[in-house]
Amino acid sequence: MTYTTRTEGCDSLRDALVSTLAGSFEQHGFRRSEDVNGLQFVLNLTNAAAPTPYRRRSQSVFVISVLSIPGPPADLRSFCYASLVRSLSNLAVAIVPPRPDHRRLDGCEIYFTTPEAGFYHLPYEANAVFERVFPIATAHYATNNDLVPDLPERYWHGSAAVEDVRRHGAVLDRMGVLPLPFPLDSVLSPDELHHLYKIFGMTGLSYGNLSARERVSEFSNGSFWMTARGCNKARLQGAGRDVLMVREFDFDRGIAHVSMPPEGEPRARVSVDAVEHALIYETYPGVGAIVHVHAWMDDIVCTPQNFPCGTRELAEEVSRLLDDTPDPSRAVIGLKNHGITVTGPTLADIFERFQGRLKTTVPMFS
Ligand SMILES: [Zn+2]
Repeated sequence: MTYTTRTEGCDSLRDALVSTLAGSFEQHGFRRSEDVNGLQFVLNLTNAAAPTPYRRRSQSVFVISVLSIPGPPADLRSFCYASLVRSLSNLAVAIVPPRPDHRRLDGCEIYFTTPEAGFYHLPYEANAVFERVFPIATAHYATNNDLVPDLPERYWHGSAAVEDVRRHGAVLDRMGVLPLPFPLDSVLSPDELHHLYKIFGMTGLSYGNLSARERVSEFSNGSFWMTARGCNKARLQGAGRDVLMVREFDFDRGIAHVSMPPEGEPRARVSVDAVEHALIYETYPGVGAIVHVHAWMDDIVCTPQNFPCGTRELAEEVSRLLDDTPDPSRAVIGLKNHGITVTGPTLADIFERFQGRLKTTVPMFS
């Protein structure tokens, strides 16, 4: 597997950290390459004053931007998030030295920021930094859609399950757990925003998603309705628009087979987390509905890694954790530094369990 680097100017702390990081990746079988085809990830060496992006040719390339911030601003979280989106990255690694003239990595604090609004930090230690970067750099996106007009006619105008998804989308919106972490349009130009949405597979209205199983006799057992990417959960349009039928999922190729009615929206794409929902429906026949929000609940199990949204690795880890719960069809799994995925026999059952337990702040673990 290959990676490449893109470097702007020089910065001793940043360059030292990247050289150590690259060395660790090479020990794990990665090779640096100038050939952009087949790249797994890019180390983008940028700067805090004006972070700039590596322009990917393919969505499946992960970009890790590294920068140093010698005089950190009071609101470091917003600063790091703005650097992440300006550099169009999947992860921003920011080095904050104890004093502006400090020249060694030892003694620096390392801050990690992800598009899922993850923000956590630890004192510099080469291995610890590598362990945080590795799962993000080496994950595999499974967010492609294949829209096929093969939805049986009786579902063209929806079903009880579609209405259930629409109703609960509005409830979720009222609960205030679908926030954007940062007003993106205040830091990005329309062109950058467009590129960002393409990379992260969103259109910026809100986070989170809902789905409900629909057993369609013509389809395999795992079919379900799910909210589309970047739609407004408060006012979900119906089948083939904001609520899409995932007939099945090709896990090897990372493609959702989406069954459309003839009048469906050709630009619609199912939520990037369809891979996770599909794996759960396929594995646990008792699961009838799934909700994912950037919120938290006490006393839940949590994934040890924070894999990006829409990756095969995240789906597999959530499914593995469900296996260890007393009842996988009624469980809550914490996604580290990100949010929760909740299963239930129905959406109503899940929302009942939210009552008084849902916390809007996601705890961060380094
Ligand atoms: Zn999420």
